[in-house]
Amino acid sequence: MAYTRFSSAVTDARQRIGGATARPQPLVLAGERLHVVGAARLYVCGITPYDVTHLGHASTFVWADLLASVLGAGSVQARTCRNVTDVDDVLTAAARERGWYFDELALAQESVFEHSMSALRVATPVEEPRARHHVHAVVQLAEGLLQAGAAYERDGAVWFRGADLPAAAGLSRDEALRLSEQYGDEPGDPAKDDPFDVALWRPSEDGAPAWASPWGWGRPGWHAECAAMAMTVHGACVDLLVGGEDLIFPHHAYQAAMIERVSGVTPFARAAMHVGEVRIGGAKMAKSTGNLVLVDDLLGEHSPAALRLLLLCRPYSQAWDFEADLVDEAEARLARLYAAAGTPGDGDPDVVLAALRADLDVMQALNLAERHGGDVARRAIALLKLG
Ligand code: ZN
Repeated sequence: MAYTRFSSAVTDARQRIGGATARPQPLVLAGERLHVVGAARLYVCGITPYDVTHLGHASTFVWADLLASVLGAGSVQARTCRNVTDVDDVLTAAARERGWYFDELALAQESVFEHSMSALRVATPVEEPRARHHVHAVVQLAEGLLQAGAAYERDGAVWFRGADLPAAAGLSRDEALRLSEQYGDEPGDPAKDDPFDVALWRPSEDGAPAWASPWGWGRPGWHAECAAMAMTVHGACVDLLVGGEDLIFPHHAYQAAMIERVSGVTPFARAAMHVGEVRIGGAKMAKSTGNLVLVDDLLGEHSPAALRLLLLCRPYSQAWDFEADLVDEAEARLARLYAAAGTPGDGDPDVVLAALRADLDVMQALNLAERHGGDVARRAIALLKLG
């Protein structure tokens, strides 16, 4: 009797996953085949909560959400960790301007951000570490890197040695200097041995947030915060590192190097997904230039599903220019998709999952959905979370 019941359970499971095409396939990202068994550790670089969410932020998180959805459809549990960088000099300055504490501003902006993400059907991450809760972990990281000879202490600061990182990232010295300057690493600071050394820890200015450390009162460096949060949640290795393409260097290069040098485990990330920049008139969206399209403004005029589709109907790594007409096109495409889903249709719905497993080819998935209709279109709507 026991044997019969076991046998039936196996048969049922086979029926549930439905034939040969439902067999787990590797995910292909940027041409690399990535086999994941059971659970996938995703680290998604999250927001610095000092301002409203613009379309560029939303794009990264919607793509990360699709990645988790596609993994889940292959019976892999996506364990997404999306951090909040709530200890940051830009946030501190923005809070000071308003006469608020830094954590008050961070919590207020996080709440607005979560509302936008929820509208776009981005699932709440399994883990959402905040930098202010992981300062002790940054201290541990800095101590470990000092012991490993990968860092040095000077005048209350601890600097990570990064002289070899530009070459490892395939960048010329000039390009790396430009990016380090642009993202706040202050390559011209004479306090450090090399322009490409970055702060693991540094003293805080009077009146700015500060924590106790073996090197005096201070605050963590940005790259070190993400390194410490990633190690705390996922350990020394993640399956997928996700973020905007502007994070490739210096942020992700330093985060990975810090973790690899303190843990001895390489590589930190088995694969990376860097999402293309959203631009206006060829220029990056940024508050500093007023070049912004806010998610909440668009949500006031368009359906969340159309907005999600607008972000997804392109190769994920491609930078693109926002134009108002594109939202109307996404609305029209969504209407065609819903109409296709209402037809009897033909074909195997698993072709949609196969397309998405091949470098998250949303355009191919949408074309298949419109061509075959019925179950194929309904599967596309479910996987892309456009229902
Ligand atoms: Zn990060």
